[in-house]
Amino acid sequence: MAVNRKILILPGDYIGPEVVDQVRRVIDWLSDVRSVTLEVEDDYFGGAAVEAYGEPLADKTLDKAKTADAVLMGAVGGPKFDHLPRDIRPEAGLLKLRKKLDLFANLRPAMTFDALLGASSLKSEVIKGLDILIVRELTSGIYFGEPRGIEGKENERIAIDTQRYRENEIYRVAEVAFELAREREGILHSVDKENVMATGILWRDVVTNLQRDRYSDVELRHLYVDNCAMQLVREPKQFDVIVTDNMFGDILSDCASMVTGSLGMLPSASLGAPDSNGRRLALYEPVHGSAPDIAGLNIANPLAAILSFSMMLKHSLDMVEDGLLVERAVCAVLDDGMRTADITEPGATELSTDAMGDALLEKLMRMSEA
Ligand code: NAD
Repeated sequence: MAVNRKILILPGDYIGPEVVDQVRRVIDWLSDVRSVTLEVEDDYFGGAAVEAYGEPLADKTLDKAKTADAVLMGAVGGPKFDHLPRDIRPEAGLLKLRKKLDLFANLRPAMTFDALLGASSLKSEVIKGLDILIVRELTSGIYFGEPRGIEGKENERIAIDTQRYRENEIYRVAEVAFELAREREGILHSVDKENVMATGILWRDVVTNLQRDRYSDVELRHLYVDNCAMQLVREPKQFDVIVTDNMFGDILSDCASMVTGSLGMLPSASLGAPDSNGRRLALYEPVHGSAPDIAGLNIANPLAAILSFSMMLKHSLDMVEDGLLVERAVCAVLDDGMRTADITEPGATELSTDAMGDALLEKLMRMSEA
């Protein structure tokens, strides 16, 4: 009997719809060739939802996201929406979606493709074969802690942000990271600032205890965040899975991403807590934004969105082999010299967004027949 999986697609703004259209083609192909029916529903999100519904995330869209097996987003925002009041800006819709789904674990892979090693500012031998997964806590820490704000005091203003973590918030994101490390190389780096921050002491304690109690098969290494930043550019291949808090993860994941060199290639996933059936709410999205400067030109690179979908296959749809197949097909088109404008180089074949989708599908068909 065919299995049904429900995917909600939120194309968003500017190049968002262009890149997710290429993902749709991969979804349709998989539905045709596998005994799994991938049912797709679409909705407006971000600026497009402000235009359609008057708000960036409508309640009905949120309800659909809660019942879907996974959500794929393109990108939101752009100059057309910059004049809007802060609470109905596209970015507010994204923050609300993450919060309402309680997506506390943000997964940001940083992997290099042999064909694109030249795009990095680091030497090829330092990054060849790089495959890091950064797990960032996404719903707590200094970006959310109270009190916060700017106060006036005797003619001088004081700004306050509060770094605050509950044990359970550390526990649950560390648990996700240990599970992933167990499936990969079995090494987890936990990053904190235990030497100067109370949250760092708690972070280290909770992660250490969790390893002792449940993950003694995973090697745990602690690292200060400043050292981690240095090591990421010095010798990035020493890392497999890294887990860290919200702000450190924000910075380190961008740093790790740029080690790979190309924004149009970077996927991400954000996961919530498992329900009684082990099913997690999840949002998959490329790391790049809505690229208003190239929207409508059919030149956007769809591979970050496609790689986000391959993460969905692995982490939400129970289709790990297909996720790996999509990744291998991406490598293969790059090896063949196929490039969109953002990653082009002398001697490469420069393709439009649609043509990159064609090349990928052709590769998928050939690889699945082989
Ligand atoms: P951006 O990522 O949209 O673009 C930065 C540069 O990279 C641009 O030159 C763009 O053309 C290029 N680029 C990005 N994605 C590409 C792709 N797939 N293919 C080829 N080139 C690509 O960042 P920005 O310009 O700072 O932001 C533009 C808008 O996107 C802003 O409104 C911002 O708020 C929003 N944004 C949204 C998200 C999101 O939806 N998650 C993330 C970041 C920025």
